[in-house]
Amino acid sequence: MDENIQTLKEWIDGSDNIVFFGGAGVSTESGIPDFRSVDGLYHQKYDYPPETILSHTFFMRKTEDFYKFYRDKLLLEGVKPNKAHERLALLEQRGKLKAVITQNIDGLHQMAGSKEVMELHGSVLRNYCMKCGKFHDVEDIKAQSGVPKCECGGIIKPDVVLYEEGLDNMTITKSIQYISNADVLIIGGTSLVVYPAAGLIDYYRGHKLVLINMQPTPQDDRADLIVRGKIGEIMSQVVEE
Ligand code: NAD
Repeated sequence: MDENIQTLKEWIDGSDNIVFFGGAGVSTESGIPDFRSVDGLYHQKYDYPPETILSHTFFMRKTEDFYKFYRDKLLLEGVKPNKAHERLALLEQRGKLKAVITQNIDGLHQMAGSKEVMELHGSVLRNYCMKCGKFHDVEDIKAQSGVPKCECGGIIKPDVVLYEEGLDNMTITKSIQYISNADVLIIGGTSLVVYPAAGLIDYYRGHKLVLINMQPTPQDDRADLIVRGKIGEIMSQVVEE
């Protein structure tokens, strides 16, 4: 076993206060593209860049185009949790991991069995009518084509934090609490460039900050341990079934 992977395993084995903070790279092994890998969404050709399409202004002005991209790229059929999601859920069940804090909106951590999941950017699985406030599950969106509408005629909006929109205060507060009290903080599959989420790393006060990522990030010098590679493959080596 690679020396860094061995160290990660020892830190995990020796702790019952682990917190995981992740991003889109956690779900690429489930077939959901991230934004910044070479085959990520930023390198594909659209009429507008992804952060423009996924902005509040774009949603309000070009709702049909928003939903075209959203259905094609974020509302994928048949996606399943991968080894990273599964092993994190196992760590929680074993009383070793306190929380998963995720920038992802795909619901895969919960599907894998994780209970304490802070969804910083919301979830595609929750949606609500902008007119009457009624909640709709994802099947209501999938069952319609174009812009999904509520029975009342209002437009349905995903409960996803779009660019220009604020994060939920309670979710941020709880995430800060978990990170500032963590013994081991594992950060994985995130480019650590999307703020304010990326700033959460500042609240960690321990000496076991692990970064698992395929590529370097601007915060690599903050890490006590860097493990390069695919997070699903790495987590399955460090957490036994
Ligand atoms: P990002 O696309 O900016 O960065 C992903 C990082 O993960 C990259 O550094 C890449 O090298 C790394 N990576 C990719 N696959 C990996 C793997 N298998 N193992 C280890 N590392 C891997 O993602 P971000 O930092 O999360 O920021 C993008 C924003 O877009 C976030 O807000 C996120 O919520 C959203 N987003 C979410 C999803 C999703 O819900 N699955 C998908 C795309 C984008």
